[in-house]
Amino acid sequence: MRTDFLKIRSWAWAGLILSMIGLALVSAFWASRALPQPVVLWMLDTDTRTQAEVWRQRVLLQIQNEAASFASQSLTEADQVFLNLIPKTSDIYRIRLFSNTGQSFWSTNQEKEGDKLSPQVFQETVSGGDIHIISSIKPASEIDGLSIHSLDTGEGINDANIAGHLVYEVFTPVFSNGEFVGAIEFFTDVTDVYSVLLDRVRQGVTIASVVLTVFMTIAATVMLRTSMRQMRHINKRNREERELLESQMQLTREVKLLGELNEWLQSSRSLSELFQMVIRFMTHMLPECSGSIYVYSNSRDVLDGVASWNDGNCKKHIHPEGCWGLRRGRTYTFGTSEVDFVCEHAEPHDDQPYFCFPILAHGETVGLMHLKKLMGVDKEQFFSVKKLAQMSAEQISMAVANVRMRDQLQEQSIRDPLTGLYNRRHMLDRLRRLLDLGGESGRQVHLVYLDIDHFKRFNDTHGHDAGDYVLRAVGEVLENACSGEDVACRMGGEEFMLIWPNAADEELRKRTSSLLQAISDISLKYSDQHLPKITASLGVASSPEQGYIPQTLMRAADDAMYLAKANGRNRVEYAGEQMPTNPAESLENEDICATDMAAE
Ligand code: GH3
Ligand code: MG
Ligand code: MG
Repeated sequence: MRTDFLKIRSWAWAGLILSMIGLALVSAFWASRALPQPVVLWMLDTDTRTQAEVWRQRVLLQIQNEAASFASQSLTEADQVFLNLIPKTSDIYRIRLFSNTGQSFWSTNQEKEGDKLSPQVFQETVSGGDIHIISSIKPASEIDGLSIHSLDTGEGINDANIAGHLVYEVFTPVFSNGEFVGAIEFFTDVTDVYSVLLDRVRQGVTIASVVLTVFMTIAATVMLRTSMRQMRHINKRNREERELLESQMQLTREVKLLGELNEWLQSSRSLSELFQMVIRFMTHMLPECSGSIYVYSNSRDVLDGVASWNDGNCKKHIHPEGCWGLRRGRTYTFGTSEVDFVCEHAEPHDDQPYFCFPILAHGETVGLMHLKKLMGVDKEQFFSVKKLAQMSAEQISMAVANVRMRDQLQEQSIRDPLTGLYNRRHMLDRLRRLLDLGGESGRQVHLVYLDIDHFKRFNDTHGHDAGDYVLRAVGEVLENACSGEDVACRMGGEEFMLIWPNAADEELRKRTSSLLQAISDISLKYSDQHLPKITASLGVASSPEQGYIPQTLMRAADDAMYLAKANGRNRVEYAGEQMPTNPAESLENEDICATDMAAE
């Protein structure tokens, strides 16, 4: 578009130059035809007036008494002889003398004596002291002393429409004592001078026109070249400024989008929410690519496809060894080198360029962002978004790291570090929520309080570390006893709590007795030494029977567990079913157990 404009401007300039050259040539032609004649006539007129002064002086010097001669209108013989010599020795071919009334009284050509001039010539010009010139074309026969040859050939002015001789009749006034006494008329044939001057002026004008034309052509060419160069320079500068402005605007937009992306990603609460945000932003920020995101599975042997946009090909699982970006630990660009290798996850490949950006979180690779050029998008345009895509991948990496760290902290805050079970705080939250739901739907929620029997003695006998070992094993058993919405947690020490929503009465009893059995089946070896079997006492309380408030329900389960202790341990008691037994009996049972453990 800009080139077309320049071409149009060049053509306009070329046209202008040609027009100027044409105009100069026409002007030169016109000047060489029309200009010389008036110029030459003006030159002749001027020259003749100067000459006339000389001629007059010469004549008056010849006449002995000019005042008397002009007054009497007669010349002495000697004067006449001398005056007749003048035409032979000058450009004048005839002289006539006039009285102050305009009457011719003597002439070198006696045929022309006696003429009377028009009073206008005398009164208006000559008598006032001015020289008066009358020019006329006369035949050769009218010119005194012209050669026969000239007469025969008709030589004369060869100018257009003029044939004959150009004759100037020059009237010069004669004053004596300040008084106008008459006039002298000189006839001069200026034909030859006129022709020579005309030729010279024509040549001069032609040469001047040619020089002017050449000068104008050179000047116009220089102007054209200069202005074209300036125009190119201005256009280049404009283009550069526009490109700079566009790139700045693009940069501003990208920075703004990245800022917004960062703000949104930082506020995401989970990875799934984060990837939904990524999809929205990527569709908007990088419309020239399709994309997909993969995240390492917990087993870290494969990456799971978690998000895709613009019809991006997102596989369910990919192997890390199949991606050159992940294998080399840096961005991989397909489509810029002469020799490229296609990643396994990019198959089947349609030869479109793509990027693989590893997603890192705290120095560890956690995933992959794959961007591929969409059909119809220019390659250069696609490669130009690499930097923005790279920065987006970094933002995503940071956000993934943050979400993961938050998840870990969250997990740590609700887990018991020794057994991996939930802690008391989380158990309370879950119980509250389940009881709220149970209150609305009317379904049962069972709470099982579990306390290991005689654990103090166990610790005292086998050491605290062995006790921890046992607690972890109990944790595993409890974990296995839960499924679905069930929750197992460690309340502290050797006390545990299970929430079993939705279990029917019979099933509940089966599950508690299997649990007792599983705990007593725990068989552990610690430091090459077999540890004694352990048992636990269970107390069960159920909602809505024992209430809807967590604390009430927990108190009921706790009471039932103490009842189980009192009733001999290694047993289950259900709240609201039995009254507490005699404490002395329970103490007796305690002693029996202690004896058993010591024996083992
Ligand atoms: P009972 O049958 O009446 O429950 O007797 P008990 O000895 O189990 O009960 P008691 O409450 O007197 O003792 C609890 C013991 O649990 C005390 C402590 O040695 C042990 N214990 C508490 N927390 C831990 C722990 O984190 N690790 C280990 N190894 N032992 C713990
Ligand atoms: Mg206890
Ligand atoms: Mg105990």
